Amino acid sequence: MTNRIFTFPTGMQVEMKGRSISGMKATVNDMMSSLVNAHTKALEDATAKLVDPGPYDPEEIAGPNDTVKWLDALSEDRLYGLIATRLVTYPEGHIYQMEIACMRCPNKTPHKTDLRNEPDGDLLVYEMPEEALEKFKQGEPFEVTVLDKKVTWKQLTGKHERIVEKLARQEPNADTDDLAMGLRIIEIEGLHRNDKMDWIKGLGAERITMQDDMSEQTCGVDTVIDVVCQHCKSRFEAALPFDADFWVPLQKFRDRRRRRLREARQNQI
Ligand SMILES: [Zn+2]
Repeated sequence: MTNRIFTFPTGMQVEMKGRSISGMKATVNDMMSSLVNAHTKALEDATAKLVDPGPYDPEEIAGPNDTVKWLDALSEDRLYGLIATRLVTYPEGHIYQMEIACMRCPNKTPHKTDLRNEPDGDLLVYEMPEEALEKFKQGEPFEVTVLDKKVTWKQLTGKHERIVEKLARQEPNADTDDLAMGLRIIEIEGLHRNDKMDWIKGLGAERITMQDDMSEQTCGVDTVIDVVCQHCKSRFEAALPFDADFWVPLQKFRDRRRRRLREARQNQI
């Protein structure tokens, strides 16, 4: 396993190191109690050293001994870090074979994606526009206009993800997207903070426009995949799954074992 330096969506650079298989398996177990803690531990385990803090305040993002304080990193960087962890751990980890449940029929369909950045792979990584990057560096809030109201908002970090996870446990019926938006939005012009959640939940189509306007000021990685069902041929979009097959790609080992057995059998004939 060779260490590799990755450039994250914010521009931060981190040297990542491959993890042990037992570490990868532990992540799958950890996910059952807390996704946020599982991801944070995985990222910490795969971090060799912080190379360049990018737009982050070095005091805020650098941990002891050149480590990264992953809970203070933006969710977009954390997500990219999970992919980097897989890429640096498995020599052929860029080929991600998965099974996606069809949206229109009861079947699962195999799907393959190359986790390397475009153009080598299929992963679309996008940077923050210059102006937004400057705001982020200065710690200034972002702004969007929704229904003629000025809405100020911030980018979310691992610490915010942890709050969302806690809130979701307290209110199992709540929509986690709503909870995250409640944290993301700092203030809505002319509205009392107690009315914020009702305002968010009451938004119609303008919510999509608002999210689009926000994402234009954010960096990130596009983890939406286009799937064509093998059974019913319908085409649909799905979110890249970060499940057990992502962390421990057993399929690959099984394929290799089958191939070896088949070759051995042919040699006997
Ligand atoms: Zn189908």
